Order: sequence, then structure tokens, then C-alpha cells
Amino acid sequence: MLTSLPLLFALLTLPALPSDRQERAGSRGSPSSPEETITLAAVGDILLDRGVGRQIERHGADYPFRHAAPILREADIAFGNLECPISESGRLVIKPYRFRAHPRVLDGLVNAGFDILSMANNHTLDCGRDGLIETMERLQARGVRFVGAGETRAQAEEPVVLEAKGVRVAFAGFCDFIPEGVFLREDRASIAMASEEGVRRAVKRARERADIVVVSFHWGIEYRARPSPRQIELAYAAADAGADLVLGHHPHVLQGLEVRRVQTGSGQRNVLIAYSLGNFVFDPRGEEPSRTMILRVILRKTGLVRAEILPFRLEDGAPRPGAPAESAAILQRVAALSAEKRTLLTGGRIVLDETLVPLRP
Ligand SMILES: [Zn+2]
Repeated sequence: MLTSLPLLFALLTLPALPSDRQERAGSRGSPSSPEETITLAAVGDILLDRGVGRQIERHGADYPFRHAAPILREADIAFGNLECPISESGRLVIKPYRFRAHPRVLDGLVNAGFDILSMANNHTLDCGRDGLIETMERLQARGVRFVGAGETRAQAEEPVVLEAKGVRVAFAGFCDFIPEGVFLREDRASIAMASEEGVRRAVKRARERADIVVVSFHWGIEYRARPSPRQIELAYAAADAGADLVLGHHPHVLQGLEVRRVQTGSGQRNVLIAYSLGNFVFDPRGEEPSRTMILRVILRKTGLVRAEILPFRLEDGAPRPGAPAESAAILQRVAALSAEKRTLLTGGRIVLDETLVPLRP
């Protein structure tokens, strides 16, 4: 499958820019080469209940990931947004849409190669605080890290650092919706709520402990193809505070990518914003919500190198590579939405260092 996909990739290339971090990385005298690259694969909403839950019951825990797992496993770090508690003990709260995944789904997440999941979203507390605690414990027991949730509000906002080939990548996760059915308390198990100030604080802490900073946001308006002013505000706050990569989800459809060029003390750096990665494992209705992608980002200690979009299509709850025309349509759509953000996404297997420089107005 991997060999058939490259022709469909849209490639984004981030020019190497002199940055203050480059100097710092050198002076730290780290054992790995500053040129060493690693791969991060990022996906959007993963719902393992409802229609997908029934498919898993029938076909097993690996069912949703059987087509995507080779790419996720191959990545040094695989990230996704877990859009449901995994809980037997927690009671469903009262709200219109509520989810609860059976613990059997854990095998699927582990086998697919997920290293870190965001839990800062509007469904994590669907089984209350007990369900959240149980989910955290179950993930921990299986060695899957999570971000955006914790035993306290402060812990939920704390960045999590993963290391691959000597490159330290910090993740922070925030939700822009107050969860229904549960009162959040500072001193109890909670998710991290988005605020510009909180985001800046988390990015600053992450920056001190890692080479690369990734911020995940559950945000935006459902079924809107374009980011809301609030998404842009939060994304820019993260970028300007020192994040390298912003990963968005919740709108249930793909939104565009934007490269924001940020001034640093000694130069500039490019920050990649993916406004919405769409549904990844889900049982949606309609064409646009069935379109999805894996965002593959190549990075090194000193910053992002390039990004690629791998188009997928949801069928019976699971992403699978679509027909060539469908994949081309997905790429075209994301490219058009990105162009509105003055970000050039070129289809095909072409890597040009200048490609990702935001187009000037
Ligand atoms: Zn959501």
C-alpha cells in the first residue's frame, strides 16, 4: 500500500530557516545529529462507539485501522484524537450525543501504533469523571500516552514529551467546548480547556523541555470547511508562542492548511496549522465527512521539514484508500482551502523547498 500512495501525496516543503532553536540544539551537544529526521503521522477524530463499535464487535478491534495501520506504525510518532471514553464503570451523562467505547477497542489503538492521543474534546467526559479516570488508566496500562486530560485541570494542561531518535516532541491538547453533563473542577479529573493564556503557558513550558512543540485543538464549527475566527486566533496564539505544529479536529470535515511564518530572535520559522483533520474513524453520513487524511510531517530537531497529505475515505466506519479519482478530489479540495490561506499545496511527488513559503498577497 505504501508504494502505491506516493503519487497521490500532496507535498508541503518547509524551507530550512535559521532559527534560534537551531543554535540552542547545537550548544546542548545532544548525541543525535541535528539533521536526523523523524516522522509524525496525525489523524483527526477517532470514535470507537456507535456504528464503529458494532463493526468492531463483529470484525475485531483492528477493524477500523486495518488500512491505515501500516502508515501509522511506520511513523516514529502517531497521534490521533480519541473522541470517546473507554469505560465499563462510568455512567453515561445526560446530553444529546454521548459515547462509550468497550475496552476491547484498546487492542486496535495499540496495534495501529498510536503513541499519543488527545483527550481534550467534548466527548471524553461522556461517562463522567469516573469514565475519564478509567480511560486514562486503561491507556496508561497499555503504554499509550495521552494529552489534554489529567487528574486535575493543571495536569490536563501539562505538555507530554515523547522522544524519537533523539528528537524530543512535546504535545499539548486543548478543547474549545465546555463539556455537557459535567461540571469541571480545577482539583478533579478534567480535560484542558482552551484559552489563549493557557495555550501560551503550555507552549512555553513545552518549549523548555522539547525540540518541537505540537498543540492539538478540538475546536471550530461542525461541517464548516473554513476555520472560524476563534480557530485562527488560537492557532496564531500557539504559533506565536513557539509551537511548530497545530493539529485541529472536531468539524467532521477537512479544512485547509496554513503556514504561518513567525519571527524569532535570529530569524524566522514556519509553523504548520492543520485546521481540521476531519473524521478518521467514524460513521458519518455524506460525502465531505467521509473524506479524511493522514497528515504526515517530517521534522527534525530544528523544525519542520515537510508535510504530506495521504487521502483516505471512510467506509463502514474505517478509513481506506479511495479510488484514484476520489483521492485526487480530496487533495484538490484541501489544496483549494489551503490556497485561501495563502499556502501552496502541490499535488504529486514533488518536493521544492520554496513550495511552502506562504504566498504573498
Ligand atoms: Zn468533537
